[in-house]
Amino acid sequence: MLPQDQRGQLFVISAPSGVGKTTIIRTILAQWPSLRFSVSCTTRSPRAGETPGKDYHFLSHEEFERGIQSGRFLEWAQVHGQYYGTDGEQIEEWLIDGEDVLLDIDVQGARQVRCAHPGVQSIFILPPSMKALEERLRGRNTESPEQLAARLTAARKEIQEAHWYDYIVVNDILEDAIADLQAILRSCRCKRMFQLEKVRTFLIPQTPF
Ligand code: 5GP
Repeated sequence: MLPQDQRGQLFVISAPSGVGKTTIIRTILAQWPSLRFSVSCTTRSPRAGETPGKDYHFLSHEEFERGIQSGRFLEWAQVHGQYYGTDGEQIEEWLIDGEDVLLDIDVQGARQVRCAHPGVQSIFILPPSMKALEERLRGRNTESPEQLAARLTAARKEIQEAHWYDYIVVNDILEDAIADLQAILRSCRCKRMFQLEKVRTFLIPQTPF
């Protein structure tokens, strides 16, 4: 097992749909090229503008279920009636190589990752209010009234899970939410346990640290 300061850090971000998580994550990834983003597997169909292998690995139900059987996934869940999962092998390779990894997964997946990687840093993005979330979802104009109602019910349930997360970011003003997430990532990277190697070069031999 590699010492902790030579392994990368694992970050999980969750949010109900419509909170603006994808925009926040895209901005962060553009600003932090060293942060690896895990492209999930899913059985849902690609949406307009989505690229296979970049947005998701699109699998058939049979392929996904074979993946479950073979233990391919670090975590997996059914979200809005479709399978979603994280390829475990790739994540482990990155962490061993000392690369920080970001997962965009739902609350069920986050629970599983917390069990497998107790050191994971988890971040939940909240809307400023349920009313604001409803307005954002309505504004997207992509859901029928029934789908909208279902998304809001799901969002209320997901928000109940927020207290399990290490950090909460409220996406009221987008720039502030992005700045908050940057601050979280920066402070995690500065944690002593990830900087031991740097400190050691300054220590007098035999000093315990
Ligand atoms: P969408 O279909 O809108 O891209 O994503 C729907 C939900 O699935 C989002 O909450 C997203 O975070 C979640 N999701 C995406 N990839 C994964 C994954 O690999 N595992 C889990 N558990 N959830 C995922």
